[in-house]
Amino acid sequence: MRRELFAGIDIGGTTTEALVVPADGGARGYAELPSGHGGEATVTAAVAALDAALETAGAGRSDLEAVGLGVPGHVDHATGDVRLAVNLDIDREGFPLGAKVASELGVPIAVDHDMRIAALGAYNHLRSQRPIEHLAFIGVGTGLSAGLILNQQVFRGSSGFAGEIGHIVVDPAGLLCACGLNGCLETFASGSAIERALNQTGVTTTAALFAAADAGDRLAAQVSAKLTHHLAWAVHLVTMTYDVDVIVLGGGVVAGNEAVEARVREELARLRATSVVAHSVLSEDRLTTLPEDFHPGVEGAVALARHTIENNQKPNQEEVSE
Ligand SMILES: [Zn+2]
Repeated sequence: MRRELFAGIDIGGTTTEALVVPADGGARGYAELPSGHGGEATVTAAVAALDAALETAGAGRSDLEAVGLGVPGHVDHATGDVRLAVNLDIDREGFPLGAKVASELGVPIAVDHDMRIAALGAYNHLRSQRPIEHLAFIGVGTGLSAGLILNQQVFRGSSGFAGEIGHIVVDPAGLLCACGLNGCLETFASGSAIERALNQTGVTTTAALFAAADAGDRLAAQVSAKLTHHLAWAVHLVTMTYDVDVIVLGGGVVAGNEAVEARVREELARLRATSVVAHSVLSEDRLTTLPEDFHPGVEGAVALARHTIENNQKPNQEEVSE
């Protein structure tokens, strides 16, 4: 008997995750594989991850109703085209990712920016616990960006760049960023920035960096403070700009790394103690993280797939608002 399944695929610079969820609840299937690089290889890896997730659920492609797909870079939500996904080697010419995956699978596909989809996944998860109108998901991975839910709707901006806070210049004399400007926020607060800090200090993990800082290593203290201060400023920046109810700190660098969250909270407490404005806006309960076993990217991608069918509209043109 054919099962009705919705699938979500979350393509990151390093890993591609897939989740399949039966329409009527029941056992889910999950898999993750290394991401492909270049347009065609990205499609191959995405489809392979989906096939693996289907297998763990004891299902096949013919059971799929629709697929939601999250990808970094500049995503044309209407067409499913992706460009400037530098961590996937997709350049400014772009690649028709949505159309390619759809023709491979033969089901409706909806594509959106990975952080926007993660924001949607986090929003659906958290609003079952408390009412939320506005939420920002700050994703710290290879780079840094934010996904926004405003007035209970995914906010993309006029050209799909809303939330690209990683490319806000905070120090014009700083390092050259992949975007071409100097001293962008993500040159201080991102997985790449952490890599640089580790190389500078000779330790291999973020935890070891913090431990060295606590043990009195001056260089470790300097670079780790720079990292956590800039992450806290990213939280401050998003709060001041959008005044959201909840800011979720997530992404590969933060997930399961309690030390990062603890240090960001310390810095936010310092900002609150220093500034009356920060004190009134940046209340402690606005910042949250998600359980380590909750994957907001694929959860949001499944929600996007459901909306594609439920709204009964042409794929890639649905609204994901509730
Ligand atoms: Zn930049």
